[in-house]
Amino acid sequence: MHKNFKNIEKIVFGRGSFENLEGILAEKRGENNKFFLFVVDNFFKGKDLEKRLPALPEDVVKFIDPDPHEPTTDQIDQLRDEILQTKGLPAGVIGIGGGTIMDIAKAVSLMFTNEGSSTLYQGLNLIKKPGIYHLGIPTISGTGAEVSMTAVLTGPEKKLGLKCEWTVFNQVILDSELIATVPVDKWFYTGMDTYIHCIESENGILNNAYSLAYGEQSLKLCREIYLGENAGQNAVNDDKLMVASMMGGLSLTYSEVGVCHALSYGLSKILGEKHCYANCLAFQHLEDYYGAGVREFKQMLQKHNVILPQNLSKNWTDEQITAMAQVAYNLTHMWNHAIGTDWKDKITLDNIKDLFRRM
Ligand code: NAD
Ligand code: ZN
Repeated sequence: MHKNFKNIEKIVFGRGSFENLEGILAEKRGENNKFFLFVVDNFFKGKDLEKRLPALPEDVVKFIDPDPHEPTTDQIDQLRDEILQTKGLPAGVIGIGGGTIMDIAKAVSLMFTNEGSSTLYQGLNLIKKPGIYHLGIPTISGTGAEVSMTAVLTGPEKKLGLKCEWTVFNQVILDSELIATVPVDKWFYTGMDTYIHCIESENGILNNAYSLAYGEQSLKLCREIYLGENAGQNAVNDDKLMVASMMGGLSLTYSEVGVCHALSYGLSKILGEKHCYANCLAFQHLEDYYGAGVREFKQMLQKHNVILPQNLSKNWTDEQITAMAQVAYNLTHMWNHAIGTDWKDKITLDNIKDLFRRM
């Protein structure tokens, strides 16, 4: 009945807090083969942050482009195998980037100590041994990946997280200066992931005082950031968005996402759409389920001149729509939360196909 959740062990928050990284790592350097693996968003290659990385000559710094696709099981297995064969077991993994990089850092830290392919561990509590030390530094805010118990991977069979208490970061550094360079469209889509997390978390049977308290505070911050008097990207809002993202993630941890995320997973798995953008594509059409939330979302779109494409489904084949609906239908925990334990009496595969046809 009751879930027993793990939170991040340590958090540093504040502008400029990135400078703490070197000191934090110094305490861990002696472990395993005494080197760190840094996985860093390719955006920072050649930027000032690259020079500020406290990497020593023995460390491995991998710049990864998060754009071609969301993290895959193959990508994680290859990275793990390459590092183990060339350098052995690292003292820890440091992920610096968005949700994509956070999930890569979390997943690879687990796979360093769990044998075989990461496809074996997609699901709840399938991981057998604790991973190695891992530290996350988000550079775009909204997914809540910095705080969540899951590292979402796309495998040949399914898009599903490695979810267990060892997935959670040992340490997070929340330095809001790092998100200042995010372009406005990505700032919007990724921020909306938080907004949608909170709307879905509170609209379902798993909502409770604990998840709601985080969700409401996160929604309040989202409203200030996206609709308030000083709406937009600025230093004050960057601080708020970092906190909103974390609280949205915590809200979900104690509740669940819903219809929008189920559809979004279908869009990502079958069409390769990125998570936050896919959520926005779906959420605009979900007024039947999340009326007030969708109306407010549309105000946010308007305020920031974001135009989402319409009539996309005209170009989708029936096979694609069926495949996406099947992916969504299989996310039973989301429908259970959003619709209720009798959801199978109320939602059919055809209903879900119709939701995709609205897009
Ligand atoms: P992302 O990591 O995919 O990055 C989005 C874009 O922003 C990229 O082009 C990246 O280079 C750029 N970017 C990042 N930081 C920047 C900066 N400071 N300045 C300029 N550009 C910057 O984005 P995301 O939306 O944070 O993450 C999406 C991923 O997160 C998906 O793979 C999704 O599955 C995953 N996700 C995970 C969880 C979880 O709980 N683990 C939850 C939701 C989503
Ligand atoms: Zn999400």
